[in-house]
Amino acid sequence: MSKVLIIGAGGVGTVVAHKVAKNPVFTEIMLASRTKAKCDQIAAAVGGGRIQTAQVDADDVSQLVALFRSFQPEIVINVALPYQDLTIMDACLECGVNYLDTANYEPKDEAHFEYSWQWAYQDRFREKGLTAILGCGFDPGVSAIFTAYAAKHHFDDIQYLDIVDCNAGNHGMAFATNFNPEINIREITQNGRYYENGEWHTIQPMSIHKQLTYPNIGQRDSYVLYHEELESLVKNFPTLKRARFWMTFGQEYLTHLRVIQNIGMARIDEVEYNGVKIVPLQFLKAVLPDPKSLGANYHGETSIGCRIRGIKDGKERTYYIYNNCDHEQAFKETGTQAVSYTTGVPAALGAAMFVRGLWKGAGVYNVEEFDPDPFLAELGEQGLPWVEKFDIDLEV
Ligand code: NDP
Repeated sequence: MSKVLIIGAGGVGTVVAHKVAKNPVFTEIMLASRTKAKCDQIAAAVGGGRIQTAQVDADDVSQLVALFRSFQPEIVINVALPYQDLTIMDACLECGVNYLDTANYEPKDEAHFEYSWQWAYQDRFREKGLTAILGCGFDPGVSAIFTAYAAKHHFDDIQYLDIVDCNAGNHGMAFATNFNPEINIREITQNGRYYENGEWHTIQPMSIHKQLTYPNIGQRDSYVLYHEELESLVKNFPTLKRARFWMTFGQEYLTHLRVIQNIGMARIDEVEYNGVKIVPLQFLKAVLPDPKSLGANYHGETSIGCRIRGIKDGKERTYYIYNNCDHEQAFKETGTQAVSYTTGVPAALGAAMFVRGLWKGAGVYNVEEFDPDPFLAELGEQGLPWVEKFDIDLEV
């Protein structure tokens, strides 16, 4: 008997619902979000009468507690927004429910990415014998599990890590983001940051870039930016001398982004407009294409992986582990594009690892702290096959 509650009915929630419904380990499934109609639509698209739906404002702990008490899930998969992480964790503690998410907590009024707020729940989850699994999407998520797998099987000393994230898909629109525009734009307009020789180095946004070659795609302009898994990876793999995160952006996308910033539309503070207070970035989100709507005309692939250098049996070794995901195939299966797909599949699989007892432990964990083997053994059949290459030029 494994009851699962999914919170959030966006692109990622859609994929999680599809994958969880296909997995018999979950005996009862509920999908809850701010707008119940969106949950109903997803439940109807999944079919089979497997998914119940509910309305909940996940900013409100008392509403969450009431929902948890009535449905009594074993685990909550949080694929709402990062703003809701702490309220959902609070409700989990109050009701004795386990927790999984795909993005670290962010305060609404500051674009600030760090695990401290969620790591602060460590003792409370441990004392209650509950598990919180943080960052179980693709990046963070599979990127950290790939790193753990490399450290376990292929290196004695893992030293240089470059996570490389390429979206070579084309949706035919002048400008759109692949997941929640507000969260996405906050992430990429902040300063970049990487780790080297025990220190964090802060850089101007997009100021370090290189052409990197992605399998089945070719060369793409790739930029160093800060990504949250770097924080937990350098802590959990202390032999790392350097850890960086690269993401590809097209020139057209960067031009739009520069204009959005220059005209003040990326602001996250309130401004008054016609007597109403609005946050420009939230308003922008309302007029940009809904990431869910991009899927129908999206062609091409994503390619996300880890390029690693270190020592094995006294010799230097290089290693590249990655997944390529096709937008059209993702859309055919779930009605969403590959960015939502690559996030939702690992979230659903991570929850299955937990309910099957393959990932366990009381407390708050980043995914690289669990055994990567059972997860990666099933990731391919869940839709995200992965490839390894040894002793190649890593380019980084
Ligand atoms: P969407 O904006 O498409 O969906 C978010 C959903 O959460 C919407 O259904 C929204 O409701 C709901 N929601 C928002 N606020 C509340 C609230 N207060 N109470 C209840 N429900 C709420 O986002 P995505 O699906 O693209 O992304 C979901 C999560 O996945 C985000 O946290 C994102 O950062 C993360 N992510 C992680 C990645 C990874 O690889 N680790 C990659 C991509 C995304 P409504 O429909 O009413 O607005």
